[in-house]
Amino acid sequence: MTDTVTNWAGNITYTAKELLRPHSTAALRALVADSSRVRVLGSGHSFNEIAEPGTEGVLLSLAALPPEVDVDTAARTVRVGGGVRYAELTRLVHARGLALPNMASLPHISVAGSVATGTHGSGVGNGSLASVVREVELVTADGSTVTVTRGEERFGGAVTSLGALGVVTALTLDLEPAYEVEQHVFTELPLAGLDTAAFETVMSAAYSVSLFTDWREPGFRQVWLKRRTDRPLPDFPYAAPAAEKMHPVPGMPAVNCTEQFGVPGPWHERLPHFRAEFVPSSGAELQSEYLMPREHALDALRALDAIRETVAPVLQTCEVRTVAADEQWLSPAYGRDTVAAHFTWIEDTAAVLPVVRRLEEALDAFDARPHWGKVFTTPAAVLRERYPRVGDFGALVKSLDPQGKFTNAFVRGVLAG
Ligand SMILES: Cc1cc2nc3c(=O)[nH]c(=O)nc-3n(C[C@H](O)[C@H](O)[C@H](O)COP(=O)(O)OP(=O)(O)OC[C@H]3O[C@@H](n4cnc5c(N)ncnc54)[C@H](O)[C@@H]3O)c2cc1C
Repeated sequence: MTDTVTNWAGNITYTAKELLRPHSTAALRALVADSSRVRVLGSGHSFNEIAEPGTEGVLLSLAALPPEVDVDTAARTVRVGGGVRYAELTRLVHARGLALPNMASLPHISVAGSVATGTHGSGVGNGSLASVVREVELVTADGSTVTVTRGEERFGGAVTSLGALGVVTALTLDLEPAYEVEQHVFTELPLAGLDTAAFETVMSAAYSVSLFTDWREPGFRQVWLKRRTDRPLPDFPYAAPAAEKMHPVPGMPAVNCTEQFGVPGPWHERLPHFRAEFVPSSGAELQSEYLMPREHALDALRALDAIRETVAPVLQTCEVRTVAADEQWLSPAYGRDTVAAHFTWIEDTAAVLPVVRRLEEALDAFDARPHWGKVFTTPAAVLRERYPRVGDFGALVKSLDPQGKFTNAFVRGVLAG
């Protein structure tokens, strides 16, 4: 490529021979049909080589396509184009009096790229972002369009698909009536005082709950409760209300974060932690995340506490969330109610990787599935045990893309186990 193209974090430089930005779906179809190896770049917020097509391949950006957001208020659905980001989508959906049930920590990411990796927010009753997808429209290897709809057997592999089936040109999502959320931040939740019942109570205390720690001390520095104003907020005696607005990454300005102190606001301005108009998180970082059956939550947190002196020196913040079970074969929450342990590391791959390996050993006993969009070293054979439908997914890839036009080294690694 003439220009250097990197992911958002800057730790991956794509080696593709070209970055192409088609302006129409017809041009996109022709490009796909004429290329031997293709990957799509979403908003580039993944931290590994998942989007990399390799030196012989082309990287396609859908950012120049018309940004389709077509809300059907009667059906309570929205059809969203393959390059659209949550920030654009959610404003338009809200303006029509409708809402998504959940969002990730930031609205900067593309919808297609997010659901492709199993991206999630928090909430014991909230599935991953892919769980609201009811239809996927794909441009497949020969340039033709294929639509896969909820209810079809192959739909289980069609949404959280690592970009391996084709170019997602549109997704249709379920919506619900718009609602308001208020955000309450608490500080200092001791780990020692938590048993399984108390952990469940804490994580169920509001619609969406996140715990944050830098693991420099045992326990959690911050607890973020996102309450829907149409549901009660129970007393929260486990931690003290924050005295000032907080950012989950120590040292970062709270102004970058969505409104706190219980000020009610629209769902899309409270469910993410970070405001669309600011750099999310710390901006100088790597990330990893492991998703485990929720019944292991407390044992997993104790295992993390036991290695906190190894983890803390390269950690900016760790976030614990919950995700309800879903039915996407490659979703990290497939078939099981889940606890997710996320790590925002310093941006030093050499220092972080040995800690990632140590972390994976510590979480090995808990059937931990790595987040597809983040840094992990889990071997393919282990991935195959942890994602029991990888074989079915491989068969779906073969049926839609027999020549492997959309299969890159990352996907080969997943399928090879
Ligand atoms: C600051 C920050 C905060 C984050 N917070 C969260 C969080 O709260 N929860 C969470 O789960 N994750 C989180 N992530 C991870 C992030 O959500 C995922 O990496 C997600 O995949 C990013 O979406 P993207 O559009 O940038 O995808 P990319 O990284 O660009 O691509 C991801 C994959 O999707 C494929 N793809 C993208 N668009 C298409 C398309 N149209 N057709 C076919 N394939 C496509 C790509 O080929 C690639 O395989 C965070 C990341 C950052 C940087």
